[in-house]
Amino acid sequence: MCSEFDIIHRYFKRSVSGAVLGIGDDAALIAPTTGIELAISTDTLVCGKHFFPDADPYKLGYKSLAVNLSDMAAMGAKPRWVLLTLTLPEDLVKQNIAWLSGFSDGFFALADWYQIELIGGNTTAGALNIGIQIIGEVAAGKALRRSDAKLDDDIWVSGKIGDAALALQHELGQLALHPTEIEQCLPALLTPIARVELGQRLIGLAHSAIDLSDGLMADLGHILTASGKAAWIYMTDIPCSSVLEKYRQQSVVMNCLLAGGDDYELCFTAPKINRRKIDMLSAELAIPLTRIGEIYSGEGLSVRDAQGNAMTLEIRGYDHFRS
Ligand SMILES: [Mg+2]
Repeated sequence: MCSEFDIIHRYFKRSVSGAVLGIGDDAALIAPTTGIELAISTDTLVCGKHFFPDADPYKLGYKSLAVNLSDMAAMGAKPRWVLLTLTLPEDLVKQNIAWLSGFSDGFFALADWYQIELIGGNTTAGALNIGIQIIGEVAAGKALRRSDAKLDDDIWVSGKIGDAALALQHELGQLALHPTEIEQCLPALLTPIARVELGQRLIGLAHSAIDLSDGLMADLGHILTASGKAAWIYMTDIPCSSVLEKYRQQSVVMNCLLAGGDDYELCFTAPKINRRKIDMLSAELAIPLTRIGEIYSGEGLSVRDAQGNAMTLEIRGYDHFRS
């Protein structure tokens, strides 16, 4: 049985250069740069709710960090430091050291890609639970907030959405995808890509932003509520994969698109004058950026069909594994 000290020392302790003091003391030390604001966020992944008990540890380590990176992206912040709290079942530590090795490898693969330093954390025994705190930097006064959507802004989304929810529905046995289709959708669920660079590049172009973790309607709804605005979106403009398109007529698939969650794409609003610049950014970063609707005054979110008529929707959020 590894002690807490052994686990940290063996799998997670690394030297740091961007922090004043990393793992090993009672607290880490970081020195904020002048003119910079710190963006700080935390997220927890609970076994059985956010991931399956037999989840591949490498992919789980990767995703645990990715979902936190996504919150930094949504603020336009550059992620710098991370803290990790692991609650581990005793039998996992006793019998399955490969799990810790796989988890830390997946976690550090992504951390290294973005040059993020693990500066602290905690391990304890209990039901498997992964808590991450992330700290990023953003120029003072420049962070993208949910509350700054303006009248007549375009509403944009990055990438394609719905695949993670579609894969989850397949895994839960709610629908049956062809093996090549599940192969295409599963990475969105297990190893999502956080739009870290896009978020930073949207500063100066976008008025407001959020990352899509709870589903397009819920998350865009957060922007509308925070900004005191209303919006319409065109159902047919929501970008999705060819797999999702194929099953789109099924109501469960429509739900994946509008309320599925776990997309970790960015939804942002921007003035129409910036359309060309945003299209150029899309080409430069090779990330699809699609206009799906518009902000107007009032309150509420209306989804329109191809003819422009408001659709009556029975949308049910999936809230992760709650079916
Ligand atoms: Mg978020």
